[in-house]
Amino acid sequence: MTNLQEYSQLNLSDILHSLNHYYMVTQTDDEGLITSVNKNFLTTSSWTPKRILGKTIWQMFDESETAQTSLHTIWSELQEGKTWFGTAKKSKRTGETYYTNMLAIPTMSEEDTLLSALFLELDITESVELKERLEQIAFIDLETNLMSRHRLEVLVNEMIQEEKSFSFVYLSIDHYYTLKELQAGTAETELTQAFANRLKRYFQDNPIARTGSSQFVVLTPFGDWYVQGFLDFLKQQPIYVGSEALPLSISGSIVRYPEDQKSFVNLVEASSMTLEEVRLQGGGRITSLSASSHKVLDRRSLINRKLLTALDHNALQVVYQPQYDIAQKTITVYEALVRWEDEELGTVSPDELIPIAEANGLITNIGSYVLTEAAQLAVKLNDFKGAPHVSVNTSVREFSNQPMKNNILGILQVNACVPSQLELEITEKFAFQAEEEQSIIQQMKELQDAGVSFILDDFGTGYASFRYMQHLPISKIKIDKVYTDALLTHPKTQQLVEGMIRFGKSMGLYTIAEGVETKAQFDALTTMGVDAVQGYYIGTPVLAESILK
Ligand code: C2E
Ligand code: CA
Ligand code: CA
Repeated sequence: MTNLQEYSQLNLSDILHSLNHYYMVTQTDDEGLITSVNKNFLTTSSWTPKRILGKTIWQMFDESETAQTSLHTIWSELQEGKTWFGTAKKSKRTGETYYTNMLAIPTMSEEDTLLSALFLELDITESVELKERLEQIAFIDLETNLMSRHRLEVLVNEMIQEEKSFSFVYLSIDHYYTLKELQAGTAETELTQAFANRLKRYFQDNPIARTGSSQFVVLTPFGDWYVQGFLDFLKQQPIYVGSEALPLSISGSIVRYPEDQKSFVNLVEASSMTLEEVRLQGGGRITSLSASSHKVLDRRSLINRKLLTALDHNALQVVYQPQYDIAQKTITVYEALVRWEDEELGTVSPDELIPIAEANGLITNIGSYVLTEAAQLAVKLNDFKGAPHVSVNTSVREFSNQPMKNNILGILQVNACVPSQLELEITEKFAFQAEEEQSIIQQMKELQDAGVSFILDDFGTGYASFRYMQHLPISKIKIDKVYTDALLTHPKTQQLVEGMIRFGKSMGLYTIAEGVETKAQFDALTTMGVDAVQGYYIGTPVLAESILK
């Protein structure tokens, strides 16, 4: 009894003194508004009492979705009268991130509701950052613990040196970005990790790497049938997010070393191309590098070799597709599309040509050529009712490597075309990159000031983020053909398109629908309030002469 009494003699004020000395201490009321903090907290976080007393605890946490979700969990626990202990990602007044080990303790009322909360924290930023650095040095993908792309390259080169034969299996989650949008932010990490775990379970000791957000590579001695069995395995072991099994579609390709390709670069290129083929055919399959892909590879290198000469000899052509304005009941824009007919290669479609030109840098030459032709047409269109504009597709590669603005304005000037008659079409991929490179946005703004307008092409297919819609000088959006295609057959798509048009209107943007092939589609889109349409129903791409006739 005496012993117990001795224990109970522990001096509470001493304990508090020690806690206060070693820990950061924060106290909030029942709503999470900060009521007091100690000096340690202020020193580490660089907040001042004036700025945080009475403010919400959410403000102290990092802005990232994971950090905010974890605070959500902490707060729910506290409201249920439970303590919480773990690592927290916090934000200093300067915006800098720091990590703490945090103990959160609730004080409850007699009715079992939260009265106040106490947070005790220790700064562990150094050890967290050290761990991250170590992981990077170890070539590991942090989210999944799979090998990184760098590690994969090293390993493949080792295996090639040791002359080990293996299959290079490239797997990709189809429609990843759409899936991401359907799911909340944390679900993305969950999905990636769950998928990585399925890979580990199925491919066991075979090396597995994560090479992109939704791309994975497995090196395996197993045959095609085994690799393809992964899709069945995935069906039997579906991935759940919340209570719903995700309808995941996986595309994949198998390229063999040494039979098909003999270097890391070639393995990567051949497998990406085979995968692209699978995706074009609807995805959901894993195929091996086929004889036809070998042909495609040969064709690719032939295009590569002949393109420069073709440009030199003006062998490329430009065709124009009309865009019809519904209110004005007339053609207001002609979009320039590049064409290449070659004796040996036959027709080289832009979808084939542009990626190759982007890779070898000739996209700049193609861009200048198409713009020159389009500017010349624009000048002649001045004689037409309403002086229609011309629009030209641009690749982000053209903007990142040189003073694109001067180049464009120079070409317009030489051809006596006013900048306000030119519209530039950019893709969401372009917008995504422009957001990262201030110089691209700058050039776009300067072009806009000069009178050029920008259209966001293929709207709804890419990295759609409403954030860049605010930063970039975009005045029109072009809803992608996939939506027009499904408009009358999928009620969900109809709702989506209505939403996009409403979104466009609310942002003060002019909305175009592309790929309109039938009267029924045209009528439906008109009813929905779209500003303009483009597609075979209005007109196919034709040479400048036939427009001017
Ligand atoms: P895009 O800008 O989305 O162009 C529309 C594509 O859809 C064109 O294919 C056009 O011929 C086709 N199209 C238009 N209306 C219809 C329709 O009603 N039904 C169907 N089935 N198809 C339709 P194209 O000419 O093969 O161009 C493909 C892509 O290549 C273009 O997509 C554009 O992103 C790119 N591209 C074309 N020319 C250039 C260029 O000069 N520079 C750059 N950077 N990219 C270009
Ligand atoms: Ca376009
Ligand atoms: Ca388009």
